[in-house]
Amino acid sequence: MLVTQKHRIALISVDGDPAAEIGQEEAGGQNVYVRQIGEFLADLGWQVDMFTRRSHPDQAEIVQHRDNCRTIRLKTGPAKFMGRDDLFDLLPEFVQEFQAFQQKQAQPYSLIHTHYWLSSWVGMKLKKLQPLVQVHTYHSLGAIKYRTIDDIPPIATKRLAVEKTCLETVDCVVATSPQEQEHMRSLVSTKGHIEMIPCGTDIQRFGSVDQATARKLLGIPPETKLVLYVGRFDKRKGIETLVRAIAQSELRGDANLKLMIGGGSSPGRSDGIERDRIESIVRELGLSDITEFPGRLDQSVLPNYYAAADVVVVPSHYEPFGLVPIEAMACRTPVVASNVGGLQFTVVSEVTGLLVPPKDDAAFAKAIDRILSNPTWRNELGQTARQRVEIGFSWSSVAARLGQLYTTLLHQAAATVPVPTPAVAATPKKEQVAA
Ligand code: UDP
Repeated sequence: MLVTQKHRIALISVDGDPAAEIGQEEAGGQNVYVRQIGEFLADLGWQVDMFTRRSHPDQAEIVQHRDNCRTIRLKTGPAKFMGRDDLFDLLPEFVQEFQAFQQKQAQPYSLIHTHYWLSSWVGMKLKKLQPLVQVHTYHSLGAIKYRTIDDIPPIATKRLAVEKTCLETVDCVVATSPQEQEHMRSLVSTKGHIEMIPCGTDIQRFGSVDQATARKLLGIPPETKLVLYVGRFDKRKGIETLVRAIAQSELRGDANLKLMIGGGSSPGRSDGIERDRIESIVRELGLSDITEFPGRLDQSVLPNYYAAADVVVVPSHYEPFGLVPIEAMACRTPVVASNVGGLQFTVVSEVTGLLVPPKDDAAFAKAIDRILSNPTWRNELGQTARQRVEIGFSWSSVAARLGQLYTTLLHQAAATVPVPTPAVAATPKKEQVAA
């Protein structure tokens, strides 16, 4: 394999479009992660093409983000939104479209970084067709997810098998937290190469505004005690726990108490159904007067919301990492989170926020009250939270670590794999890529 100065690399995220609007059904942390590492790797000199599936007829085929970084939307099945669980049978077409696109380029991709299990399958197929290094990030593990839901989908068996083969055979799997790494080893396979590199956040954007200024911008009075949730409407995000906690808060009768639940939803889709369910619990508990649903919050305005809040609550049943906590922490706002997965890594209890058992309304209520009733401590937690993010979770440091990993893997491959002919591998025949 040729190791040249500026590598052309592909980030493959079949189901998570890096150029999509974030914060709605199935567009969350994975989309943000791919887009951010793509842009930061481009700044470091990599030539980054990010591949996803076209999910709407009006979407541009190519979105240029900066000189060396673009999103390419491949035709894969109908140009309409499809849930992740329905995409597997379309993957052979994605592989073919990828190969056809690649063939038109001057140089093949020497490394691909795949995201989520669907893309890992694409990467493993491509690896059989041409010499390349494959790095994979799971973003979510079937082995964990299926423990937390009652209605296990028919695709589960396939997903679990693909995730196991992926860990055992790709060049490197990136775990985003020590907890995720541990789960891979205990629940997926003891074989395979894992490196732990966390997710990051934009520490310039998040943290650019102080609380007083943010509140002026949003029209929130200084005396308001603001509790904020940001994220998708999904049962596993545990929003119900937060709402029930607010109903039990000692500050329940305080006219200044306010709950804001930010995130997009589409009527009739799964996130719209969850939002309706949450709204009905809010009504049932008599919290309508103090609860606001501002809808999807754009990344450009999110720093104001995080900074304006007194506390950000992340009540998820599980998170492999969770971007929302580090975004809030970068804005100097302490986080109350479930004591699970990557949240145990990012939130240091009693130091940058508080960790409490998941689904425990009373424990969440107590933790929120402790922070709201002690503004000096709240500010101390927030300052330490900012320092923690600056030290460990900036996108620039994450991209540098990924770049270093790619370089090492490419050199290892160059030492072991015979140099290929420069021509791009031929487009595979359909039967070569069939599931
Ligand atoms: N997000 C957003 N606007 C919203 C809600 C969420 O931009 O209205 C973003 C949020 O800032 C974060 C991402 O969506 O970057 C959610 O990532 P996280 O890892 O917390 O959760 P996921 O959605 O991956 O489960």
